[in-house]
Amino acid sequence: MKAVNIIHISAECYPIAKVGGLADVVGALPKYQKELQASSSVIMPLYNNSFTQTNKFEKIYENYIALGHEYVNIQVLKLIDNKLGFELFCIHIPDLLFKDYVYSNNDTDRFLAFQIATLDWILTLDKKPDIIHIHDHHTGLIPFMLTQSYKYEKLKDIPTVLTIHNAQYQGWFSHEKVSLIPPFNFENVGLLDWGDSINPLAAAIKCSWRVTTVSPSYMEELKLNANGLENLLASESNKCIGILNGIDSKVWNTETDNNLVKNYNISSSKSGKKANKKWLCQKFNLDENKPLFTFIGRLVGEKGSDLFPEIFTKALKENNISILLLGSGDKEVEERLNYIPKENFNFYIGYNEKLAHIIYAGADFLLMPSRVEPCGLNQMYSLKYGTVPIVNTIGGLKDTIIDINSKDGYGILHNGVTIKEVTDAITRATKFYSEKEKFTKNLKTIMKIDNSWNNSAQEYVNLYKTLKQ
Ligand code: ADP
Repeated sequence: MKAVNIIHISAECYPIAKVGGLADVVGALPKYQKELQASSSVIMPLYNNSFTQTNKFEKIYENYIALGHEYVNIQVLKLIDNKLGFELFCIHIPDLLFKDYVYSNNDTDRFLAFQIATLDWILTLDKKPDIIHIHDHHTGLIPFMLTQSYKYEKLKDIPTVLTIHNAQYQGWFSHEKVSLIPPFNFENVGLLDWGDSINPLAAAIKCSWRVTTVSPSYMEELKLNANGLENLLASESNKCIGILNGIDSKVWNTETDNNLVKNYNISSSKSGKKANKKWLCQKFNLDENKPLFTFIGRLVGEKGSDLFPEIFTKALKENNISILLLGSGDKEVEERLNYIPKENFNFYIGYNEKLAHIIYAGADFLLMPSRVEPCGLNQMYSLKYGTVPIVNTIGGLKDTIIDINSKDGYGILHNGVTIKEVTDAITRATKFYSEKEKFTKNLKTIMKIDNSWNNSAQEYVNLYKTLKQ
């Protein structure tokens, strides 16, 4: 059978540019799809970062796009000497995209130009994709432009799939900017609109052929709470489906991960984890004999981070434990962390991929008191690395973790994000840690759980096949 030819279009892709889980998914899914009779490539912006500075690209296309009344030079660069496992194309727009950051407070023109440049280039391809798979609001105007903008008439029959990784962010902008979108049938301008502004995520939900979310529970939760899009999602529910993310077990592999202080497998997990924990405790001045609780992620309300100072202070007072945090975000939370007594607590403000891997390996527990968690990858990395996740019963966390008090359970769940719920969960975890035999047995159990992309990648391919003419 002929392979399905898919183009993923995204603002992030690991290892090229990563802010969160979106990058991990876009960097892994195409690799796994390739093994399933699906040939996938990725189109993303070219940012000015260490990946683009240290890898070679070849210019394969250059032109000007119209962005309202302005003409903007765009280039398409293809990665050469490619070891990613899929073809990578980067859109180079020097003044708009080529920055040392992925997102800013003013991204409308940047991502609009990215989307227009991408479609202008696809228009020139001899072999058109069978499926265009877009990710989140940064690429959300593509299905609208494909079906409504006159210049993309030739592409209008290509099926589009939108994956919502996070519905909190929707890319809203004012109708005053509508002229930036290539001329379209103005009778249908309402497709762009939701709540009095242009809403790229809403437009994508309306115009895509299919909509997926990154876990089945998140799909259900969005119908009740989607930052204003609840009714839209409910009314479009017959084209929506939740497909759980997987993890890239080629990257997240304790035996081969070269970020780790010591590699390990299931049988050497005890000594392997101990070596990584020792390194962390020495570096962050913590006692390696105490259970080590950690958090890795963005310090935002969705992750429950506003409660961290109180939770950590109380948990440290009530339990004989250490806590280590890696993350950045809300400046007030970052500042308040300074006031937590440093005795058994430390933190690293910033983004550090290597440190994150060592923490997954060296920690005993990983905290995820998320109020919203579309899928969550951290809990799956933590299982793979033998670290027990402590998670709120929400979204993808609910779909991937079973509480130790339930049949076949291996993690710790709490119901809701309050100081009491989370500290009670930490106390329960501390007790679990003290039951040495049970805890060690659980460590081996969680490392065996298969959350790799194999099943989910197949679900996506099945979905594409229903759309391919
Ligand atoms: P989200 O996409 O909402 O941020 P996910 O759990 O889906 O959350 O994915 C988060 C990803 O980003 C994981 O790979 C995690 O290890 C990584 N990550 C988050 N913050 C940091 C940080 N400060 N340093 C290193 N890695 C981080």
